[in-house]
Amino acid sequence: AAETADAAAEADSQCPWVGSDAPVEQRIDQLLSRMRLDEKLDLVHGSAMPFQFVGPTYAGMISENPRLCIPQLGLSDGPAGVGNGHTGVTQLPSPMALAASWDAELASRYGATIAREAQGKGADVVLGPTIDLLRDPRAGRSFETLGEDPHLTGELAAAQVGGIQGEGALAQSKHIAAYNQETLRNLPANDSIVDERTLQEVYLSPVRDVVDAGTASVMCGYNRLNGVHACNNTYLLSQVLKGQFGFDGFVTSDWFATQASHAAANAGMDLQMPGGCHYGPRLRHGINSGAVTTARLDDMVSRILRPMFRFGLFERDGNGSPDDAVTGPEHAAVAREVAEKGMTLLKNGDGMLPLGGETGSIAVIGEAAGERVIGSGGGSPHVIAPEIVTPFEGIAERAREAGAEVSFDDGSQAGEAAGAADVAVVVARQWSTESKDNKDIRLSEKDNEMIAKAAAANENTVVVLNTAGPVEMPWLDEVAGVVAAWYPGQEYGDALASVLYGDADPGGRLPATFPVSQADLPAASPDRFPGGAYDEGLAVGYRWYDREDIEPLFPFGHGLSYTTFEYSGLQIRGDGGPDTTVTARVTNTGSRAGSEVAQLYVTHPESAGEPPKRLEGFQRVELEPGESARVRFALDERSLAHWDADADRWVRGEGDYTLSVGGSSRDLPLTGDVVVAETAPVSE
Ligand code: BGC
Repeated sequence: AAETADAAAEADSQCPWVGSDAPVEQRIDQLLSRMRLDEKLDLVHGSAMPFQFVGPTYAGMISENPRLCIPQLGLSDGPAGVGNGHTGVTQLPSPMALAASWDAELASRYGATIAREAQGKGADVVLGPTIDLLRDPRAGRSFETLGEDPHLTGELAAAQVGGIQGEGALAQSKHIAAYNQETLRNLPANDSIVDERTLQEVYLSPVRDVVDAGTASVMCGYNRLNGVHACNNTYLLSQVLKGQFGFDGFVTSDWFATQASHAAANAGMDLQMPGGCHYGPRLRHGINSGAVTTARLDDMVSRILRPMFRFGLFERDGNGSPDDAVTGPEHAAVAREVAEKGMTLLKNGDGMLPLGGETGSIAVIGEAAGERVIGSGGGSPHVIAPEIVTPFEGIAERAREAGAEVSFDDGSQAGEAAGAADVAVVVARQWSTESKDNKDIRLSEKDNEMIAKAAAANENTVVVLNTAGPVEMPWLDEVAGVVAAWYPGQEYGDALASVLYGDADPGGRLPATFPVSQADLPAASPDRFPGGAYDEGLAVGYRWYDREDIEPLFPFGHGLSYTTFEYSGLQIRGDGGPDTTVTARVTNTGSRAGSEVAQLYVTHPESAGEPPKRLEGFQRVELEPGESARVRFALDERSLAHWDADADRWVRGEGDYTLSVGGSSRDLPLTGDVVVAETAPVSE
């Protein structure tokens, strides 16, 4: 015991910043003053050899420094939970499923679950949440986003950061900025041309939200932004992120995204990942030649150390190890809840759902109804996950309880199978993945035919779509019901069965617009943007359909419940500034308990140049039959403001603002207004 105490005392005297009560900045300075140049250089890049991943769970790692008691830093990736099909982890629903829940409290628990599992596998940093917006639904990583709207994305991502960091793990929000293309993603062709106003109002708005939520790190993307690589972009990293938004953590490069070490360091990138690529020697050369200052290197080091001190990593006894099983019933319950709350009922003809005792037989149709695979990242569109409850298994078990017969057909006899049952549930899917965009938003011809055949044989045909985002539905008029499931993770079958049978009210609302045809997408509109390059400006997502007056198939925010809701009693208090509150009453007017997502949209005066409306608040409520609740939206500094590019700042312009509340972006029964008397700048 005496020896141990001696060793501890010696380590203490060697590394007084460990276990110290001194303020973090003081501990950083103390450690920094003892670091040699090579030790600083070691800390600002990962320890992997090029093209070699570090382990089964880590996507990257910074080596420990025993001399200075700096612990190793392990980074673990998603995109839906920890790893892709790793063993011993919970296969969570995708971020898109979470987005469809419009539930910030759930987003926080989703984040906490990922953090606990990452730590259980020995990692300290969670590479998430994703704050890229779904700009073109053909983008390979659409399922990794939180949808098309900056406000929804920002709120959910901030909550997820809170959940991750509440467990003591570091969140790395990704990717900045305006990264929405996989094709040729490392080449100059991947260049987002975005005007400054659109950047501030649309793409950077969720970035500000995660910074305000205290994200420890931010990852710069593979793309260029207005011609300048994101990780070399001084405007983006230093001027806006660190300057305007006051971010004091570290910027990490996406994997192998660093193209010019000196330029990246000088632009504001702090940590190169995953290592290798001669980054260390190059940076050393930069320091020696004066191309990069020592002060900047010290800043890079300090920014990495800051959250490591804040989150107690120096004092931690160590997390679990990669082989540990970290899943459990509590985490599975989160997976189930996200899957159910995200499941979006788009159509329910003649109220055929939920299924009940009168359903004597169900034909479950489609290869996808029987497969144990999940959508994935990292360039492989899907991976096998033994934990998955398939749609067939989930429905079969629930139907047995209800006394119904269930059959399965892989789709080759869709018509016959559907015709022989009371109800047909046809499951279709489309995979999306990193490093490859999809060509279109159409299901395969085979799947479309399967659905059409089933629908022709059985008028009670329900289609379940397991896709990353919107798809065309040429058969929509023929089918009775449509449910979007959004890569719902391991609890897929059980969550689906509980929604189909009404044990759970379908809780999802669309986080992305479903166009009638992909020709309606801005990027696929050659008449609007001749020459190929497209720039829809502020009109991202539903704002495109509103501004161009295009009728969507299903609008942003849409989703049906098994009950009905009525909105009444809109009250607006305040002058449009940050103390303004908007309240309204939502009443469950049906005979079943159900959930509704009340949404607040703002229409700016015409002089502001905004598209017709912008989401500025949402609240999910669960109501018993006949019950009502008041929903409350608190406006913030920027709810009624816009970016004035001439003045380089946010302003609230004078004029009449319409505030609308309802259940989707195109179903807003309540409206009121706020008059702003005089144009005034908004404080940062
Ligand atoms: C992705 C990142 C991811 C990283 C590490 C990259 O290819 O773009 O989002 O965090 O790999 O796995």
